[in-house]
Amino acid sequence: MSTTETREVLLARYGELWLKGKNRGNFERRLARNVRRALKTVAPGCTVEREHGMLVVRPAQRAREATQRLQEVFGLSSISPARKTMREFEAIAETSLEAMRAALARYPDDAPIPFRVETRRSDKRFHLTSVQLDRQIGECVMAEFGPRLSVNLSKPELVLGINVRAEQVYVFAERIPGAGGLPVGSVGRVVSLFSGGIDSPVASWMAMKRGLEVIFSSFHSYPYVGASFLRKAEKLVRRLTRFQNSALFCATPLTRIQEAIRDGAPKGYRTVLYRRAMQRIATRIAEDEGAGGLVTGECVGQVASQTLENMRCIQDVSDLPVLRPLVAFDKSETIALAKKIGTFELSIEPEPDCCTVFQPQHPILRARIDLCDEVESRLSMEELLAEAYERTERIPIAGLG
Ligand code: ATP
Ligand code: MG
Repeated sequence: MSTTETREVLLARYGELWLKGKNRGNFERRLARNVRRALKTVAPGCTVEREHGMLVVRPAQRAREATQRLQEVFGLSSISPARKTMREFEAIAETSLEAMRAALARYPDDAPIPFRVETRRSDKRFHLTSVQLDRQIGECVMAEFGPRLSVNLSKPELVLGINVRAEQVYVFAERIPGAGGLPVGSVGRVVSLFSGGIDSPVASWMAMKRGLEVIFSSFHSYPYVGASFLRKAEKLVRRLTRFQNSALFCATPLTRIQEAIRDGAPKGYRTVLYRRAMQRIATRIAEDEGAGGLVTGECVGQVASQTLENMRCIQDVSDLPVLRPLVAFDKSETIALAKKIGTFELSIEPEPDCCTVFQPQHPILRARIDLCDEVESRLSMEELLAEAYERTERIPIAGLG
């Protein structure tokens, strides 16, 4: 009988261990559910179970694609394709050699690779201590692959991990970084004011990273700026569902509000008044969807209109917290992140945003709240807002699975 009954699994680890009590249970359940959803298409039929502070996905079908998919799940700190084996020294040794053979195939065959074994025992009844197992398995590995490796305990490049559990042992030679952050949905929901530009997709992604489920709210000015703007925004939402698996996309016509502002407000106030209208409608959507905050792609001083005074004036219409994850980013930092998460190419497709409709040459830099309030009451803004809100289209976007 072979002692090397091995099975491929994926070990998915999570960080943020400071989470305690009720939060921790919520966090772990959410994470397991998000992992299951993310793997629905790439590894159908796999199970995801919690084991000693990590998630174990089995069997690891299409391990490479599944691992890549898991790199898009917030809350995971690292992922390892691993082999499961029995709690016997012979089995562990043989499995270690297999794992090392596969790992070494990925390295060039020139200088020896700094290497070590790292054992963790969550079951201390195993007859060898961690240090003994490190040493004995290390000897087996060196006997087999000696010239290609050099033992280096302090700065290894290749680490053979061995996790000894009550029922089985996992062996792995790769630790692929996860996306970090918190599981989407574990912290709450927010409505993102989503323009289809470069910034708001990155801001939405950052909110997701901190455990917030994002609902997308876009405003268009059909027929001035309409169908193609929405197609672009929807494509971006679809791209972002890689990170949260499904999303609600809300599209609201701002046209009549913009026309009223064009006809009845001081020119320089147009953009600020548009944005106040957007925040009001987004706040109503947030109430409907149980969201506790708003997210925008605003940044301080990036464009002339993004002054503290204007931000104050815009946020004054909502009592929800307004999160601005990009507030201290340089544009180049936002662009680098947009490229990394795959939104940049979609964002730069030339498509005007509704803020540009009737845009004045010199927008106001220090808008005054009392003046905004006064203009809005003159324009019967409440009715216009109610109408735009009623005409909001709500489009559910399915994730990749
Ligand atoms: P972005 O790159 O996200 O378009 P921006 O640098 O163009 O941002 P602004 O035009 O001042 O900056 O917009 C600031 C923020 O206002 C956007 O990041 C977004 O959150 C919100 N916003 C602007 N236009 C719209 C829109 N048409 N629909 C929804 N939100 C919008
Ligand atoms: Mg924009």
